[in-house]
Amino acid sequence: MLGKMMDSQLTINSLIDFAVKFHGTTEIVSRSVEGPIHRYTYADCYRRIGRLAGALAALGVGDGDRVATLAWNGYRHFELYFAVSGMGAVCHTINPRLFGEQIAFIVNHAKDKLVFVDLTFVPVLEALAGRIDGVENIIVMTDEEHMPETSLSGVLCYENLLAVEAEDFGWPELDENTASSLCYSSGTTGNPKGVLYSHRSTVLHSFAICGADAMAISARDSILPVVPMFHVNAWGIPYACAMAGSKLVLPGAGMDGASLHELMEAEGVTLTAGVPTIWLGLLQYMKESGLQLPELERTIVGGAAPPPSMIESFENDFGVDFLHGWGMTETSPVCTVGALKGNMRGLDTAAKQAIKVKQGKPLYGVDMKIVGDDGLPLPHDGEAFGELCVKGPWVNGEYFEDAEATGAAFDADGFFRTGDVSTIDSDGYMQIVDRSKDVIKSGGEWISSIELENLAVGHADVAEAAVIGIVHQKWGERPLLICVPREGAEPAAADILALFDGKVAKMCIPDAVEFVGELPHTATGKILKTKLREDFKDYSLPA
Ligand code: AMP
Repeated sequence: MLGKMMDSQLTINSLIDFAVKFHGTTEIVSRSVEGPIHRYTYADCYRRIGRLAGALAALGVGDGDRVATLAWNGYRHFELYFAVSGMGAVCHTINPRLFGEQIAFIVNHAKDKLVFVDLTFVPVLEALAGRIDGVENIIVMTDEEHMPETSLSGVLCYENLLAVEAEDFGWPELDENTASSLCYSSGTTGNPKGVLYSHRSTVLHSFAICGADAMAISARDSILPVVPMFHVNAWGIPYACAMAGSKLVLPGAGMDGASLHELMEAEGVTLTAGVPTIWLGLLQYMKESGLQLPELERTIVGGAAPPPSMIESFENDFGVDFLHGWGMTETSPVCTVGALKGNMRGLDTAAKQAIKVKQGKPLYGVDMKIVGDDGLPLPHDGEAFGELCVKGPWVNGEYFEDAEATGAAFDADGFFRTGDVSTIDSDGYMQIVDRSKDVIKSGGEWISSIELENLAVGHADVAEAAVIGIVHQKWGERPLLICVPREGAEPAAADILALFDGKVAKMCIPDAVEFVGELPHTATGKILKTKLREDFKDYSLPA
């Protein structure tokens, strides 16, 4: 027997409809790329979303077409999130910090029809001339006055497109399983892999992160996501804000401590979210300037492990509740958040900190296990560690048009294999121990150790090379290249580093080179990175 309740579809359209109908006067505030602060309401925003959808239709965008963005966190990007998905097309956010080759691969693999680009990133596209020929038009996200001189062809102006369209777009009734957005994970090996989210997965993820044990997002909040809208949909926060009717504050390119503090203070920000690197800058600035943020209640930190000193600083110096979260592009992303349980209230500060350092406990909807090399589940005792595997309605079920990557990504029980190695304790708190792929996380971005090693051994005088992450005050981690010279050779560090120029993004080039007589290996001949990390744990990188 079936239930008798209404079968309303869980769509992204329903999120913005709700925000407009019941929170229409709530503000969305952005630091614009052109400079000034832009301020309008959900109701104003919705009218422009209608015009934008009209413009997309006029440019020939139809069901399932991919529309790419290369943009900061700002109101026009927010409009694209809702207009593109709302009309039945797919909003494909691209990370502009990726190396040109990767961006070209991603645009071509996704078969992007249009690319919307912030003024800042026009040169990124210019550098790809002749390599993304499938793109029909490039729309610069600005007004006529600020349109740049550019060598690109098929260029249009965002505000001009909107100006000639009507506000009332005929929004389609979408099935909740319709694809809504696409994001590529910048993998450590091989090409980037596409994760195709649906309206349903997005709405369920929004419910989950609004939960009190997650981000507790509500209409009382003023929320500033520092995490970019080009990185897993800013952890789903723009959608969750619409669901809750929260004020949304978008920082644009102003990611430095002073700009963030100014905006957070002016807009009464109560909740913020981002990677550890960003917070180092803000905390340092606030300490040096003797500033506080009295209205900031809580911060969600994830994407990389924050140092314990950061947790202490947020809580003790600034009275901000620190919440640790974990997730991946493949998981929408939030799976765990580290809110404490009621029976932990009485614990002393040190014991609470020990829990907060962990990546958190699963939100309802996410199932989680750790498995050993044999694929068998390991105990949740906080000691045993193995590969973390997850399952749930906002977890990737299949990579976008990539059967090979899909084949390797799931276990026999249909769990997604994360590639992270972790423990789970008896209270359900998960802690990342290592990444099976030894990726280096620098400022929230991935740096592939394997790619760098492969380039280094391209030097005639290098016999073997390994790259490991060294803890860095600002960036979280920076790569250190460790080389074994060929017998009798004495290669110079500068010559080896010169090999990387033009072959990888600048931010990926190792900070230093060290020479050793030999590298430690596992029984199967793989470089033993754990031993190297141990050997170099006190290493300090050149300033
Ligand atoms: P991405 O798909 O770029 O968001 O990266 C996901 C990966 O970032 C995860 O598989 C983890 O390796 C890492 N990660 C995410 N959150 C955390 C965290 N809180 N602590 C440590 N590593 C994290």
